[in-house]
Amino acid sequence: MSVVRVENLTKAYDVGGERVLALRDVTLSIERGVFLAVAGPSGSGKSTLLNLIGCIDVPTSGKVYIDEEDVTGKSPDELAGLRARTIGFIFQAFNLFPVLSAAENVEYPLLGFPELARHERQARVAQYLEMVGLAAYSRHRPNELSGGQRQRVAIARALATGPKVVLADEPTANLDHRTAAGILDLMRDINRTLGTTFVFSTHDKKIMAMADRLVRIEDGRVRALGMQSASGWVVIDSRGTRRHWTRRAHSA
Ligand code: ADP
Repeated sequence: MSVVRVENLTKAYDVGGERVLALRDVTLSIERGVFLAVAGPSGSGKSTLLNLIGCIDVPTSGKVYIDEEDVTGKSPDELAGLRARTIGFIFQAFNLFPVLSAAENVEYPLLGFPELARHERQARVAQYLEMVGLAAYSRHRPNELSGGQRQRVAIARALATGPKVVLADEPTANLDHRTAAGILDLMRDINRTLGTTFVFSTHDKKIMAMADRLVRIEDGRVRALGMQSASGWVVIDSRGTRRHWTRRAHSA
């Protein structure tokens, strides 16, 4: 069953009287539990797609279904409620509150869940900080943490609400390569152990190779879909041609 489905999604922006088509007629279905990379060059529409799936923005035309619920036409308040309970966000720039500690940053979205008592919130915060390896840093503020540690706090914050899907827009773009690979490894471990669906955007080939599904977009269109197999990638392009990339060929 798909956790996210988009149909004929188009997003146009008016820039100085000119119409820019950021997404053109995108249709795709994201299965529950996948670790999916949205790959493409800068300006290809990756953020726009994630923002539409995350109900941060609304399409010009087309439909978005989250857990088979059509979200098009919902009011801003309804969308905010839906986002809070079903979608976790991880951003390139971490987006932590600088005046709050790591624990308080993770707790923050849980304050909107009146059914959780204080001790339940705090137990959840401790559970997720532990999961990302930061139990010893709960009282540290973001400026006392490295970039990789800040992104780990953001991952704990995204997971603490128990979302159906975590959306990560270029989560490793501000990190050196080794730290970036560590963040992706952590996300993948969580994907495997908790079954959380992750959708992350990247333009880095090494990072996209860590996914088990790939959506390649260029110029606002889906150009190819890929699936990782034991020997490499099976890739289907927009004309339906199927190719098999061995690991060696893909990394070349
Ligand atoms: P990516 O994430 O792949 O870099 P984006 O989704 O940010 O690409 O952008 C896709 C296209 O839409 C680009 O041409 C970009 O300039 C344009 N675009 C994105 N957001 C806006 C906006 N708020 N206003 C005008 N144009 C935008």
